[in-house]
Amino acid sequence: MEELLSAITTGEGQEILNPATGEQVGFAPLKSVEDLNEAVRVAREKQPEWEARGEAERNDLLLKAADAVEASAEALAVLLSSEQGKPLNGPNARFEVGACAAWLRATVTFESPDYEVTGEDINAKVVYRPLGVVGAIGPWNWPMMITVWQIAPALRMGNTVVVKPSEYTPLSVLALIKVLNDVLPEGVLQVIPGDGAVGAALSGHEDVDKVMFTGSIATGKKIVESSAATLKRLTLELGGNDAGIVLDDVDPKAIAQDLFWGAFINTGQTCAAMKRMYVPASIYDEVCEALVEVAQASPMGVGLDENNVLGPLQNKAQFDIVDRLVKAAKDAGATVLLGGEPDYDAPGYFYPATLVANIDNDNPLVAEEQFGPALPIIKYENLDEAIEMANALEVGLGSSVWSADKDRAREVAARLRAGTTWINAHGAVDPRVPFGGIKDSGYGVEFGTEGLKGLAYPHAING
Ligand code: NDP
Repeated sequence: MEELLSAITTGEGQEILNPATGEQVGFAPLKSVEDLNEAVRVAREKQPEWEARGEAERNDLLLKAADAVEASAEALAVLLSSEQGKPLNGPNARFEVGACAAWLRATVTFESPDYEVTGEDINAKVVYRPLGVVGAIGPWNWPMMITVWQIAPALRMGNTVVVKPSEYTPLSVLALIKVLNDVLPEGVLQVIPGDGAVGAALSGHEDVDKVMFTGSIATGKKIVESSAATLKRLTLELGGNDAGIVLDDVDPKAIAQDLFWGAFINTGQTCAAMKRMYVPASIYDEVCEALVEVAQASPMGVGLDENNVLGPLQNKAQFDIVDRLVKAAKDAGATVLLGGEPDYDAPGYFYPATLVANIDNDNPLVAEEQFGPALPIIKYENLDEAIEMANALEVGLGSSVWSADKDRAREVAARLRAGTTWINAHGAVDPRVPFGGIKDSGYGVEFGTEGLKGLAYPHAING
């Protein structure tokens, strides 16, 4: 990790602290709007050359980039764990770095979106052409993986990219891009760490053709506003408040691990994690007990300790959100089955894995996105009512249905309003399957051929 760090920083700039210990990780260079403008200028200049290389050569470079990530995987995972807080093990740092390589490789395999329309009176070819310069603005929860989600399809389609990482996790993204740039031609992929003003300048820049954004709904709306003057294309992945509906035919003990990780992946700091769980009254107590058992067997602590699978919240603001929402549940008389009592004096932003039962559907812990390790478990008597509660919010990213009978689960799934509904899993994204939200969870999709289309425009040559 030290070698990687010294390759990306000069030891000056914004001090980055480990959210688990408060220890210094390193310094992130802070770039200005002028630096951003220069990066966009270079990206524009290099784009035609990158496009002219052709898809086969670009794909070959993406595969080499995946190899480069794998060759530096452990150093990247250690840096990610130190900066973001997530443990090395479990569905965390090593998993995230592995996903970066896997997504780079998968992106190369997606079928081309190009097609032909032919007939007696028609001979048209529809060819997807690059948009030009793409801006990629990312969050702090999965900083490396989400960066790859944004840049891999952009590069494959022949765009050049300027990345603006979150101020909370710039080192992880700088390191990832350093590794990728050991393979990619100069100027094709650049990163400009900076504050929200740099993000705003990128989303309003007249020479940026498209912005890929993952983050909060509030920032997503600001990006829509700042992109209006240039009619910039946008893909907005704005998180959500995913519901999971458990049906009455499950074996609670058999699904408890998957239910737990569907909610607590990355210590709950995941856009498409289960954030409210609906459980029928007939098996409510058994499901709660099984979840408590799994949670108790899932150690939380400093990320670099190989034993841990849950980590801290990444930052104080997020800790405060989780703390406020659990307090609201307690104040309303909900039952805290486990957790709910953080040690405010201990180092790090640790909030214990918390399971809250007997909670009303309109409690803030249910209605607002907690984005952390505190799961409300809502009891339902009637399935129609559960579906109605699941669909009631102004967000719709993921959702899930849990049942021993897949056909029955699929029927319920068809009634849920969300970009994805998983059956007997939650958050299990796959690079081949389009992923995106509805309502306030944003618009546009990532992954697969549908995702490639978002980084290109269809040029119809007719005749
Ligand atoms: P933000 O939406 O504020 O930040 C995401 C990215 O947008 C960061 O890189 C940020 O830069 C940048 N940004 C900030 N302001 C602007 C702007 N005006 N124009 C363009 N880019 C901008 O998320 P937060 O980190 O503040 O997280 C807050 C909440 O967002 C969480 O509580 C959670 O609910 C949600 N969230 C959702 C995620 C998801 O996966 N969908 C991921 C992370 C958070 P900078 O860091 O410099 O401010």
